[in-house]
Amino acid sequence: MNIKKNNEKWHDYRWQLQNRINSIEQVEKILEIRFEPELRGQLEKTIATFPLSITPYYLSLVDAGDYQNDPVFQQAFPSPKELDVSSCDILDPLNEDGDSPVTGITHRYPDRVLFHVSNVCAMYCRHCTRKRKVGDTDFNPTIEHYQAGIEYIANHPEIRDVLLSGGDPFLLEDETIKLLLEKISEIEHVEVIRIGTRTPVVLPFRITDSLVAILKKHKNLWINTHFNHPKEISPEAIVALDKLAEAGIPLGNQSVLLANVNDCSKIMKKLVHKLTAHRVRPYYMYQCDLSYGLEHFRTSVGKGIEIMESLRGHTSGFAVPTYVIDAPGGGGKIPIMPNYLMSWSTNKVVLRNYEGMITTYQEPDNYEPNYCDLNCKDCNLQFKYDQKDNYKPIGLEKLLCDTDDLITLTPMEQAGE
Ligand SMILES: *Cc1c(COP(=O)(O)O)cnc(C)c1O
Repeated sequence: MNIKKNNEKWHDYRWQLQNRINSIEQVEKILEIRFEPELRGQLEKTIATFPLSITPYYLSLVDAGDYQNDPVFQQAFPSPKELDVSSCDILDPLNEDGDSPVTGITHRYPDRVLFHVSNVCAMYCRHCTRKRKVGDTDFNPTIEHYQAGIEYIANHPEIRDVLLSGGDPFLLEDETIKLLLEKISEIEHVEVIRIGTRTPVVLPFRITDSLVAILKKHKNLWINTHFNHPKEISPEAIVALDKLAEAGIPLGNQSVLLANVNDCSKIMKKLVHKLTAHRVRPYYMYQCDLSYGLEHFRTSVGKGIEIMESLRGHTSGFAVPTYVIDAPGGGGKIPIMPNYLMSWSTNKVVLRNYEGMITTYQEPDNYEPNYCDLNCKDCNLQFKYDQKDNYKPIGLEKLLCDTDDLITLTPMEQAGE
């Protein structure tokens, strides 16, 4: 790759950002390839709707000799298929805008929020679920947005986990990241802060010593990154991961199952092996969302289950991510896995393992669960429930718990509300 040679600024993340590739022509030049005029026209049309932006580093990972099948190319370079809007595509499939009490905050789960602190990314992933917002210059979070978001979190004592997301939070200046982390840390009820970033994948040089020094101060900080293919775990990416791990930051990875990129159990196994070898715990494997223009990336759910089947039991338990479908309409993440529980009698369960061996587990004859009315005085378990935690069961938990006599859950639409 000629762009990399003799370039002393290659490792400077600002240089990488300033020299991002955003035209079809530049890609042709760098990879020394040529598109047919018709395809070229379609590509131009595609990037007019969904802009193109690739860091020179990420493009340098592409194998120019077989670029059409290259997983890095597939994730970074547009396909005219992006403009084929399928009948089931949804602009905001996760209803993030609907679950947003103040601009930038998505409050979907009881105890945690997503805080969109940045609207820019180092690279525009072609499979982005927030494609609707890519290149949207109308919304660029300002200090006022941050203040409003922080105020919202401060005013909601039930929020114990804040997830900084975007865009990519690491495209903010160090000073802004520092300020956000400090302000959020000042809120007493926030126990955990998470950052979701793809910079270790597409711009590993962003993980500078000065950024790490800022992050390191926060002992409750977790980072999730987004590797989709073992090829992305390059020597440069490994340097970035090492720096974060040496700073004591727990690292996780969220990948997306993508057709023609990683929809293969061997690729996924290789990916989780390489991740764990570099202290990154595979966290989620997402089924591709129903966002606009992603139809060509979607796989069957069966493919995902097949991959999970090939991981669980076959490799280290902590290398196995949870396969989830983020429910269209904003229902949150729903875990999907092969069935291991085959049947059940009054005192015995029948299970099968990863090899297909069928076994039974005998349940105890005399198990007496502690009845729970939140009155810890009368309970044998050593725990003192804190009344100010204000326990409010919802959903299935509410059907199962001892403190609530609800016996059915009725879908709102059925009830005509
Ligand atoms: C994914 C997500 C979270 C975090 O979910 P976890 O399962 O705790 O990782 C929180 N809020 C929203 C809106 C999300 O989409």
